[in-house]
Amino acid sequence: MTTTDTKPTTGARRGADLLDRLQREPPELWHRGERIADPTTHPATRRGVRSLARLYDLQWEQPDVMLFDSPTTGSKVGRSFLIPRTLEELVSVSRAMKTWADASFGLMGRSPDYINRSMTGWAAGASHLDQVDPRFGANLRRYHEYIRENDLCLTHTLSSPQSNRSVHAARQADPFLAAKVKEETDAGIVLRGCRMLATLPISDEIMVFPSTFLRNDPEDQPYAYGICIPSATPGLRFLCRETLDYGRPTHDHPLGSRFDEMDAVVIFDDVLVPWERVFLYRDVPHCNEGYHKTGALANMAHQVVVKNLAKTEYLMGLASLIVNAIAIESFQHVQEKLAEIWINMETMRAFLKVAEVEASLDEFGVMRPAWDPLDAARNLYPRLYPRMIEIIQHLGASGLVAMPTEADVNGPLQDEVKRFFQAARADAHERIPLFRLAWDTALSSFGPRQVLYERYFFGDPVRMAGNLVSSHDRTRYMDRVRDFLAAARAEALAGV
Ligand SMILES: Cc1cc2nc3c(=O)[nH]c(=O)nc-3n(C[C@H](O)[C@H](O)[C@H](O)COP(=O)(O)OP(=O)(O)OC[C@H]3O[C@@H](n4cnc5c(N)ncnc54)[C@H](O)[C@@H]3O)c2cc1C
Repeated sequence: MTTTDTKPTTGARRGADLLDRLQREPPELWHRGERIADPTTHPATRRGVRSLARLYDLQWEQPDVMLFDSPTTGSKVGRSFLIPRTLEELVSVSRAMKTWADASFGLMGRSPDYINRSMTGWAAGASHLDQVDPRFGANLRRYHEYIRENDLCLTHTLSSPQSNRSVHAARQADPFLAAKVKEETDAGIVLRGCRMLATLPISDEIMVFPSTFLRNDPEDQPYAYGICIPSATPGLRFLCRETLDYGRPTHDHPLGSRFDEMDAVVIFDDVLVPWERVFLYRDVPHCNEGYHKTGALANMAHQVVVKNLAKTEYLMGLASLIVNAIAIESFQHVQEKLAEIWINMETMRAFLKVAEVEASLDEFGVMRPAWDPLDAARNLYPRLYPRMIEIIQHLGASGLVAMPTEADVNGPLQDEVKRFFQAARADAHERIPLFRLAWDTALSSFGPRQVLYERYFFGDPVRMAGNLVSSHDRTRYMDRVRDFLAAARAEALAGV
């Protein structure tokens, strides 16, 4: 056991517990060349951390929705750790995920339920790992219980650095570019190298699993592993991108000042992973199949579609308020654009509903959401989201840049601001925050990062589409067309 595993459990946390742990055990975060000593107070991360903490407070404000009784201790634990055995339980998880998603309009895609659902899927299907080594399955079950009982928050990293994509990890110029098992010891495995990206590095633990399809070649085996360790493990470094929180008042930068989850490249400088934190090791087929087999992938996609719905509902509200404020609702192309967002919203709601209504018990006795609607949704949304942001730009037009700051609103020109920034159905004090929100959604550095996130966070859309095609049997649809063609030919021969 690691020392952390032996600490007493707390059950579901509050925001203050999250802050306290991040202060006591800060991950090694680097930002603009300096180390962040305390992520709860550093300007680059503190307001994102605060929003994260807010989610934990929310669980105790709505305990019936957000919590359930731990099967081992009976104390209240987070519902995103629940292994659902019935449809009702599955829907209860969905409701809890929606409550968290709505708290950030879905803009914190990596709210802790994302990886909680993943690890819960892996734990529910842990017997898949028992086939490789019963210790791995046992490790995973124990770890799931540990993060559930301590309500820990995980970041994760799956892909290797973007240096030479024409060859696999083992064929890069430097074999330790992609994080690789450097050695095995009695205590565990030692990782050296790098992983491309981890959103939400302001977390307690990190999940390091395989993502892209690994080749089953001996040289690829040292890259095949699935582990979780504390984010504050010695030798583990997070090189953060520049913060999207400009340090401006929330009035000026309503989203970036609240919901920057942060993204970081993860560096492993000979990081020791204790054996009890190893869940997958050197077994390429089990690495490649694991996400799908265990149900982890379906669980993650379930959270994603809930997030998509929350995000689209937000854009529906935002677009409607813009249209209303400047009285453009009578123009046909405006109605068409609002209808487009509405249809996207109902499409996501329908995918979610079908995934739940058609859920079924899997081989592990777990109520698993139906995969096909989730797969379709995760392939579709990367195309819908950029288009909806384009719609916000079309509707807001110059209003997205003609935007005074809070200092202007209260400054020497305040009378002019009041006069010239009024709208048909909003005075300047209502209109300016609305358009600043639209700017942060569609134009500021926060907005396009969201677009990039939606394009890529679940994987390369090109390869996801390829997987969708290769993993679905289309025979019955081809047969239907073949039957028609055969009948038509028969009719032609018969002179019908
Ligand atoms: C904002 C953001 C947050 C993210 N957060 C996380 C996170 O928390 N954890 C995590 O693990 N990952 C995260 N990711 C990474 C995400 O998983 C990857 O972006 C995704 O898998 C695509 O990989 P890549 O970015 O390395 O692109 P690349 O693989 O480098 O692709 C670059 C381009 O080359 C093309 N290409 C490359 N290889 C092939 C190929 N074999 N066949 C066809 N086309 C190819 C791609 O289509 C693309 O156009 C995040 C990404 C973003 C943008």
